[in-house]
Amino acid sequence: MTIQNNISNVKALIEQAAEECHRSSQDITLLAVSKTKPCEAILDAIEAGQRQFGENYVQEGVEKIQFFAGKADLVWHFIGPLQSNKSRLVAEYFDWFHTLDRAKIAQRLNDQRPSDKAPLNVLIQINISDETSKSGIQLAQLDELAEQVSQMPNLILRGLMTIPAPEINYELQCKAFRQMEQAYKHLQMHYSSVDTLSMGMTDDMAAAIHCGSTLVRIGTAIFGARDYNTSL
Ligand SMILES: *Cc1c(COP(=O)(O)O)cnc(C)c1O
Repeated sequence: MTIQNNISNVKALIEQAAEECHRSSQDITLLAVSKTKPCEAILDAIEAGQRQFGENYVQEGVEKIQFFAGKADLVWHFIGPLQSNKSRLVAEYFDWFHTLDRAKIAQRLNDQRPSDKAPLNVLIQINISDETSKSGIQLAQLDELAEQVSQMPNLILRGLMTIPAPEINYELQCKAFRQMEQAYKHLQMHYSSVDTLSMGMTDDMAAAIHCGSTLVRIGTAIFGARDYNTSL
């Protein structure tokens, strides 16, 4: 019940943020980030009409995908850092990959994507706040990586993703997001497949939407705080 209430609250916030900048909330996808949360929590979200889910850990994500296979028509996004030795599972199970940051991983995902599946939807991750602790490429490297991905038949370049440095101040949140918006528009001019700007989490969702986000990744506001010490 709470998860269903949380989802309607988040949807109302999306609606409000969209209205504030004269956008349609139809153009903003809500991705429910279910990492560390059990399948029962996902089931509650499904009952509230949620269909798109984001996972950060390969093994955990694959287990959930297998659990729901044939039970519900869901779309699964991989949003965590990926080691190359785990790329095969992402290529075989997920629909979207948000964290592309090097050509080598793109090549592996392209080679490993099963031929009976649609191409894997790919977002290039930008390290917009230039934090050494975060993955993602610099904007200066974007053109080259985008060009490489666009040549790969089993991948489809859908856009950009970012996790900026956490800021509580709205203006500072917007500063990073506006840079992303510029880069996204630039990319759209070159690739007709680009239609997704993945940015905004529980604490910076409104700013992200004001700056053109088309997909917000929300965990805490839907499923509550995460406990990383409890195994599934
Ligand atoms: C965990 C996570 C989220 C969700 O964050 P919340 O603050 O809980 O909404 C979004 N994006 C990524 C990449 C994450 O790892």
